[in-house]
Amino acid sequence: MRSCIRGLAPYSTARDEYKGGPLGVFLDANESPYDNGYNRYPDPYQRALKQRISEIKDVPAANIFIGNGSDEPIDLAYRVFCAPGRGNAVAIAPSYGMYKVAAGMNGVEVREVQLNRDFSLDVDGLLAACDGNTKLMFLCSPNNPTGNSFQAANIERLLAEFRGMVVLDEAYIDFSESPGFLPRLAEFDNLIILQTLSKAWGMAGLRLGLAFAREDIIAIFTKVKYPYNINSVTQKIVLDELSKDIRPFVDEIIRERKMVSAELAKFGIIEKVFPSDANFVLVRTADPKGMYDELIANGVIVRDRSKLKGCEGCLRITIGTPEENRKMLGLISQMNDKLKS
Ligand SMILES: *Cc1c(COP(=O)(O)O)cnc(C)c1O
Repeated sequence: MRSCIRGLAPYSTARDEYKGGPLGVFLDANESPYDNGYNRYPDPYQRALKQRISEIKDVPAANIFIGNGSDEPIDLAYRVFCAPGRGNAVAIAPSYGMYKVAAGMNGVEVREVQLNRDFSLDVDGLLAACDGNTKLMFLCSPNNPTGNSFQAANIERLLAEFRGMVVLDEAYIDFSESPGFLPRLAEFDNLIILQTLSKAWGMAGLRLGLAFAREDIIAIFTKVKYPYNINSVTQKIVLDELSKDIRPFVDEIIRERKMVSAELAKFGIIEKVFPSDANFVLVRTADPKGMYDELIANGVIVRDRSKLKGCEGCLRITIGTPEENRKMLGLISQMNDKLKS
């Protein structure tokens, strides 16, 4: 951890000092006294929300950090562990772009280690890329944009052999058959797990990212974050949404992913459909730009990942509703027929 962070005294909010009690007269925070539903500052520690997430995830509240999207804990990991110009991080590639962007903003070098050709982890390569100043290692499982999960034994080896913090991004874990590493959090001193409410929980617009780690790391993140990083409206809406049952939606996405993968694999125009544990599939085709443009021309927007090293020729297609998926498949089927004739 950076020495300036270790010695930091956090901002003490008005609501830190007030520890609760009977309904009070709040003259402590220079707020407006006129009640419109959000005239008061939010709970800086998001206690109610953490309690609910603790129940859902079966993790103690003290091991949970709530951020403004996953972007916030990614940025905080750099700010807490990597001194600008000195500390460095190792990350898998191809993967989520934010690990590199956040490093750049923090003046931190990222050493990218390509996945193997089958998108599995190059464990030796990742370890070889580390030196005495490597503080963080970014892994993503299931990985974006490749869709696959990594073998637990490989992640365990990295946790055991890397002398720094492993940030394991599990944004897509709800779509996977594997429970991921959260049930095993207490086994590892150097593990930070990221999850999010943006995907399976359907709250991308609310910006709610989660980090899980040992208690002292969560305490440091809490000290470094903006005091009121999650606004009161978001806290309230998310709490309501978390009482809903998302399982039927997740199950439908998984069923559709299997159907879409099987259908796409039948088209000659698609060279490969990569196996996916997420809510998207990566496909390789001879003319990704042509397919992308043709889909766009018909109002279907997918992600062109063909410029990404290791993803040459590839488009990433998110699983939508059954109707949306049928539309996408219909368009690709037409392109396929045209190519044949
Ligand atoms: C979508 C995604 C996230 C979620 O980001 P938020 O900021 O929480 O919306 C995190 N990691 C990966 C790899 C993703 O693809």
